[in-house]
Amino acid sequence: MLIIIKKGFVKQILISFIIVIFCLLVYEHISSDKVAAVMARGNTVIVIDAGHGGRDPGAVYGTIYEKNINLDVAKRLQKILKRKDYKVVMTRSKDVNLVNWKDNGSYQRASLWQRAYISKKKNAAILVSIHCNSDSRGAFFGPQTFYHPRSGRGRNLAVSIQEELIKVRYTRRKAIPGNYYLLNNTYSTTVIVELGYLSNSKDRNFLSSPEFRQKFAQAIADGICKIY
Ligand SMILES: [Zn+2]
Repeated sequence: MLIIIKKGFVKQILISFIIVIFCLLVYEHISSDKVAAVMARGNTVIVIDAGHGGRDPGAVYGTIYEKNINLDVAKRLQKILKRKDYKVVMTRSKDVNLVNWKDNGSYQRASLWQRAYISKKKNAAILVSIHCNSDSRGAFFGPQTFYHPRSGRGRNLAVSIQEELIKVRYTRRKAIPGNYYLLNNTYSTTVIVELGYLSNSKDRNFLSSPEFRQKFAQAIADGICKIY
């Protein structure tokens, strides 16, 4: 029996076949990239450090305590990063003392040691320490991110976060090197984020607003995700 197949029909079958193979290859490529990204993120431990806490309020303006703002933004950041499949560790999730320490003068030092210890124990790739600033004249404003002067990775991360933060609260401040305990005593890529000045009225309004705290948390997350 003779089967007569028209030339046009063969051509159509061939084109359809090529399109199906192409689609499968694209799908495979995209899904393997996605899996690789999720795996990389799943292995990246990010320690979020809500600065101060418990007996150490940090900067204070009237009834506004820095420690509470730091914790709120830290928790919001934790939620965002968890949704993006990062492993997240908090140095504190409540308003508590990080260490039992009777001598008030040494408590801050001991609590910083504890934060660095948590970062080391959890083998953190990144440590983000969240703070608010203050100055006696109320002249300064805006976010500022710090990194260790000899850490290229720290600088990249700090620059990336600072770029996102100033979209929320504009300032000409850039990410700059700092000489702080956590920057000098951690193995991770560590940055210290000062969200703004409690001593500045506009900053204070931003920092007191849940909407803007969410924006600050999102900005820090975006800064991290651009790099990791
Ligand atoms: Zn602070």
